[in-house]
Amino acid sequence: MKKILITGAAGFLGSHLCDRFIKEGYHVVAMDNFITGDEKNIEHLQGLDNFEFITHDVTNFIELQGRLDYILHFASPASPIDYLKIPIQTLKVGALGTHNLLGLAKAKNARMLIASTSEVYGDPLVHPQTENYYGNVNTIGPRGVYDEAKRFQESITMAYHRFHGLETRIVRIFNTYGPRMRLNDGRVIPAFIGQALRGEDLTVFGDGSQTRSFCFVDDQVEGIYRLLLSDYTNPINIGNPHEITIKQFAEEIIKLTGTAQKIIYRDLPQDDPLQRQPDITLAKTILNWEPKTSRELGMKITYNYFKTLPKEALYKSKHKNFKEHIKK
Ligand code: NAD
Ligand code: UDP
Repeated sequence: MKKILITGAAGFLGSHLCDRFIKEGYHVVAMDNFITGDEKNIEHLQGLDNFEFITHDVTNFIELQGRLDYILHFASPASPIDYLKIPIQTLKVGALGTHNLLGLAKAKNARMLIASTSEVYGDPLVHPQTENYYGNVNTIGPRGVYDEAKRFQESITMAYHRFHGLETRIVRIFNTYGPRMRLNDGRVIPAFIGQALRGEDLTVFGDGSQTRSFCFVDDQVEGIYRLLLSDYTNPINIGNPHEITIKQFAEEIIKLTGTAQKIIYRDLPQDDPLQRQPDITLAKTILNWEPKTSRELGMKITYNYFKTLPKEALYKSKHKNFKEHIKK
């Protein structure tokens, strides 16, 4: 049985990856410190013979007994609101955490895949974004803590690949959504759905003409799975190229939920990218992958998930663990 370590396992993407690798018959070692994650995302796996959970902050030295075949490094705050609240932890998990995990991968001779992001392109001047575009990032802006951590993460991963011959993979993930996102994480989909479920107005930032391209989680997981098992070592975009303005998206949510009031406009956060769409030619060619889930279906599934959450989840404004971690 192949053994895989998944960091960020109690988060949105990490927990779906745990499900997938359990389903594929792997032994999954899941690791998280719950800074933005939730025990509930993995509670259905607890007790399985091929699942173990370790509470650990990956910015500290990681000790793991026995052999290891693969590492998926997904630990990192991922929402702009989260990483503005915990900027130092965000830089540390991208830099120190990745360094620790690369060291572990080298010691175990394991293949390591890192979760990079479309944010490495910053506010892109090339559209759609191809992997050979170097990006347009404000290093000292508020989003720089995330963007630069991820850019460093890519660099150190390639250095381990080139210098130590480590087997590495880099996925550049574009906005992905689905069940188990945190309602109060500030990302646009849980934000709009939360507002709709509370019967509030939807807050569109700026004039809503900025664009995003939303990928359903099952498609994302399939892309990551294929990349891990491929022999492709350069970064690869995984996302859904179907681009939409945030204003159009708010209108879709109003239609879908039937409960939101109207759109209200708020200031556009600093350095909020004005456009984003993945060029997925490489993923199509190399991984024979493309997204299959329409936004209509993906959003229906996601809305139905959020509707089942207990009412009190709708009124939590921040993550319960931030305070505790900021003190450290
Ligand atoms: P998430 O916040 O739901 O999950 C991140 C998880 O990492 C959480 O469970 C958190 O507790 C854990 N974590 C953070 N710091 C840690 C540390 N120091 N030690 C151990 N665990 C730690 O976010 P997500 O959307 O699931 O994102 C997962 C990964 O995918 C992140 O690396 C993110 O940058 C990347 N990504 C996600 C998206 C997206 O659209 N969801 C887009 C681009 C990149
Ligand atoms: N956004 C918005 N209203 C909200 C939350 C987000 O208009 O309540 C916008 C945000 O400014 C950005 C887009 O939605 O242009 C996507 O934001 P998100 O935080 O989901 O991810 P990003 O792609 O910016 O990392």
